[in-house]
Amino acid sequence: MIIKYKAETTNYNKLIDFLNRRNIKFLKRTKKRARFLIIISEIRESLLKEIEDSFIPDNILKNERADEFLNKRRHINFKGRKQFLNDDFQIIAGPCSVENKEQMDEIGNILSDLDIKYIRGGAFKPRTSPYNFQGLEERGLELLKEQADKYDFEIITEVMDIKNLNLIKQYTDILQIGSRNMYNYSLLKEVGKLDKPVLLKRGMSANYEEFILAAEYIYEQGNENILLCERGIRTFEQRTRFTLDLMAVPILKKLADYPVIVDPSHGTGRWDLILPAAKAALSLGAQGIMIEVHPQPEMALSDGDQSLNPTNFKKLVKKINHNINLLGKK
Ligand code: PEP
Ligand code: MN
Repeated sequence: MIIKYKAETTNYNKLIDFLNRRNIKFLKRTKKRARFLIIISEIRESLLKEIEDSFIPDNILKNERADEFLNKRRHINFKGRKQFLNDDFQIIAGPCSVENKEQMDEIGNILSDLDIKYIRGGAFKPRTSPYNFQGLEERGLELLKEQADKYDFEIITEVMDIKNLNLIKQYTDILQIGSRNMYNYSLLKEVGKLDKPVLLKRGMSANYEEFILAAEYIYEQGNENILLCERGIRTFEQRTRFTLDLMAVPILKKLADYPVIVDPSHGTGRWDLILPAAKAALSLGAQGIMIEVHPQPEMALSDGDQSLNPTNFKKLVKKINHNINLLGKK
């Protein structure tokens, strides 16, 4: 539900105060002189009536009209264009970790053959054990850049720490904030000050409100170019690494105006589930998917079990492109 004030009024600030006192969560948006509060908490009809009577908004958008407002705004401004629009579907792909030049040459070649624009790869890796491969750091960034320069890819790589932000922002086109850092509000605020899109992954134990409000920490600092990425949550199920919460796609789209993408690789932890999960993400209205691919998954330094080999990756891209065309998407 979206509450609209056409122009500045003290009622707007009073309503914000009222909502905060009741712990009702909202997002702030402006368009020309109009102000909008996107209410993300559930509120009862009686409270809504009180809001209408006491704070006299100019309009309240509900259901289809609220969806329409959010869908129209859904995109990021990137390289002078609106991208990840509501009807777009982008494929982001690359290895879990950048490992060496040969690996990246092969990945670059595969992605460019398939007309994929976005290359991913971790140079600073958040690993569960400190004894696991931690990433090539700056050398990894250079290897990503080499492929991007050669094939005109956009780079997506993770920033784990404020102290590396200056370095990483010189190489990457989109900054990734990982699941483990979704609650790192100081890092969120720092990337919020930059003029670079942010791909924010859902914390593995975060609910939808927490996820959206984490994005709002970035937005509120001035950086409005944010992609939300569903990457699976912790449940009791052991057959998958995480439980890919696909309902996050339509629900996050009902609650907020950010594009939503899905990461079936971390969400399942199993290469054999990537295709069905990717197809589902497309059907559910996601704006894209992020997939791990490795020239030799069995040799990968991280996440080999969930990485597609080149043959299966090509099959997936063909199938997904076919489905994109069937749906009349771009
Ligand atoms: C990744 O995308 O490489 C990654 C580490 O993902 P997550 O933060 O979702 O675990
Ligand atoms: Mn990974």
